[in-house]
Amino acid sequence: MLVATGASVLVIGLAGGWFLSTRAVHPIKTMTLAAQEISVSNLSHRIDIGRTTSELGTLALVLNDTFARLEAAFKQQVRFTADASHELRTPLAVIHTNVQLALTRDRTAAEYRKIIETCFRASSRMKSLVDSLLILAKADVGRLSLDRGLFDLSDIVRDCITMVAQLAEEKGIEIQSDLHPAELTADPSRIAQVATNILTNAIRYNHRSGLVRVSVDAKTDYVTLTVADNGIGIPEENQPHVFERFYRVDDVRGREDGGSGLGLAICKSIIEAHGGKIMFSSIPGSGTTFTVQLPCAESNGDGVK
Ligand code: ADP
Repeated sequence: MLVATGASVLVIGLAGGWFLSTRAVHPIKTMTLAAQEISVSNLSHRIDIGRTTSELGTLALVLNDTFARLEAAFKQQVRFTADASHELRTPLAVIHTNVQLALTRDRTAAEYRKIIETCFRASSRMKSLVDSLLILAKADVGRLSLDRGLFDLSDIVRDCITMVAQLAEEKGIEIQSDLHPAELTADPSRIAQVATNILTNAIRYNHRSGLVRVSVDAKTDYVTLTVADNGIGIPEENQPHVFERFYRVDDVRGREDGGSGLGLAICKSIIEAHGGKIMFSSIPGSGTTFTVQLPCAESNGDGVK
């Protein structure tokens, strides 16, 4: 009796153990199979978390979240490559067609000159695009070289206003400035690049006879640059994307005067590499205000909070 009872208990115990372990392992198997199915061509597949137990359910949620982020990053990368190729293809096609044209028969010196000038303009556009892409690539891996020095932001901004004065005049736009001393330790040429880009946008995306107000000020531990325009503004649905690479609110509008949609992405990279912040507010039809905050000269370099 004792042997028979012992044997039965053993069998029941083994069967129960086998049943429980199979039940416990099953969700792990499901998760493994689902994870194996996720590949570059099928990044949208997710783990079914329907009946998984609480701890495994949490793990599946975390994995699904990671897959979602991977999918988004991959899509962004694919879009970026397509955009970059597209942008480079246009000037490349211009050069190709013009060189082909020049080679078809002998031409006069004036004709050759015209063709070379067209090729020069197209190659300059390609160069500026490649330079921009290089800045972004360096910033992405934290290797954007900054030649830091102590300077007054208002001096740099004053120079930038002089540089864009001609463009403003062509559009009949008035630039008003209110520049106060604001010392900071940063790379002056990169900061000038940011100021020029924001100023150029304020002029370009403005109405004829519009107004651009520029101010520089020093707070306790940071300095600010503000550029406010009363131009066309940015529609609400486009606002979350303006710092994205190759993003233009309106394709035609940006392309007319050569905008590549990389300007603000570069500004953001440069300002963040300095530990600063760039932000904006915009009312469609009324205007846009861009604000840049940078740690001032005495700041401990922890960045703008
Ligand atoms: P782009 O080279 O096309 O100007 P940016 O990255 O500098 O690229 O700007 C991205 C887009 O944001 C622009 O195409 C434009 O539509 C919009 N934008 C930027 N600044 C302004 C502004 N001050 N007013 C209205 N729209 C603006």
